Amino acid sequence: MTLDWLIIGGGIHGVHLAIQLIRGAGIPADRLAIVDGHPRLLARWRACTANTGMTHLRSSLVHHLDPDPWALKRFGARNRRLGGFAPPYDRPALTLFDGHCDALIERYGLAGRHRVDRVEALALGEDGVRATLASGEAVSARFGLLALGASERTHWPAWALAARAAGAPIEHVFDPDVRLDAAQPGRLAVIGGGITAAQLANRFAGERQVHLITRHPLRQHQFDSDPGWVGPRHLEGFARVADPDARRRIITAARHRGSIPPGTRRRLARLCDRGGVTLHVAEVSDARPLDGGLRLTVGGQPLDVDRVLLATGFAGGRPGGALVDGLAADGLPCAACGFPIVDTHLRWHPRLFVSGPLAELEIGPAARNIVGARLAARRIVPWASHHRAG
Ligand SMILES: Cc1cc2nc3c(=O)[nH]c(=O)nc-3n(C[C@H](O)[C@H](O)[C@H](O)COP(=O)(O)OP(=O)(O)OC[C@H]3O[C@@H](n4cnc5c(N)ncnc54)[C@H](O)[C@@H]3O)c2cc1C
Repeated sequence: MTLDWLIIGGGIHGVHLAIQLIRGAGIPADRLAIVDGHPRLLARWRACTANTGMTHLRSSLVHHLDPDPWALKRFGARNRRLGGFAPPYDRPALTLFDGHCDALIERYGLAGRHRVDRVEALALGEDGVRATLASGEAVSARFGLLALGASERTHWPAWALAARAAGAPIEHVFDPDVRLDAAQPGRLAVIGGGITAAQLANRFAGERQVHLITRHPLRQHQFDSDPGWVGPRHLEGFARVADPDARRRIITAARHRGSIPPGTRRRLARLCDRGGVTLHVAEVSDARPLDGGLRLTVGGQPLDVDRVLLATGFAGGRPGGALVDGLAADGLPCAACGFPIVDTHLRWHPRLFVSGPLAELEIGPAARNIVGARLAARRIVPWASHHRAG
């Protein structure tokens, strides 16, 4: 059977766009499939957020997976046991946000539309797409949507890779098999200067002596880009920039990478004052195994710890690995930064749409966030509704 829509990636973006296609564009749920290799939808979101120990989202109550912006507020009023909203900007509790995601997945029957598999290659034709899966099966659809995220490759500094190869106890908080629920006493070094590093330091400061090592002074921003980037204030001007390389420069300048919201920073400052966290603004240049732990060289000085946790984010560059490399090699247009050049409907090819980081040159600096999925839906859904089968 040829499906109407094949969504590749079952994270925040893939799930939101599935809901939007069903509800907004009137695509019957059984004409759509989501392919994702994890046993559950939203697996990467849940694993990454759980490891940080974050209690609330950074974004506000209108950024979630239901097309209706006020749906999470109403859900929260009916399900107070799941948590509330925190100031500023009424940020939802993670438990509440996740409960709302579960309810939406259930309501739209999305678990039944999830194929636990990976897409290894996509053949694009005039009438549709044909995906070859890792299991060896093939799936055809009238349209494909790449919602691959950027979470599959974490960023490991060179010194950390060398230390891991030498057998030192060092992990990345976002690596797939890392679960940080067990309390382990001892001296912990957290590497990074953004919100995740601060959350980890806050999380473990009661249990261990925590060293937070950042190579830049802490930068404070409520959000990871100015809220003007989700509306016409900045996006109208961005749309008028024709040169994709200029768009990339604008995105790079607008994203507050490695930044911390004021509330998280205040909590960290209190822990530093009380001695639970020691802040080092310095580069790590070396790390070696030592007595079951590690000896780090931080700003030229030795620092002995029992364990290192990297909070250095995800690898830069175009995500999607061999699948996306293959599409680019087949001639789909890319900017100098390697990212797709897409039309205003987010089509990379007449039959293939993108969301998330792959849509960044069209959606702008918020493309990777939850609101980026909502912005992508505004481009894709009217088109999908207009081109519905039958
Ligand atoms: C700790 C943390 C907290 C965050 N907090 C916020 C917040 O408060 N507000 C906000 O707006 N944003 C937040 N973000 C940012 C953003 O919303 C998330 O990163 C979001 O989860 C990205 O969703 P995604 O669907 O694009 O990617 P992912 O979650 O990475 O999902 C993509 C999925 O596609 C799968 N996939 C990839 N390639 C293939 C393939 N070839 N075949 C099949 N499947 C494939 C992957 O395995 C993955 O399961 C946060 C991010 C993190 C890490």
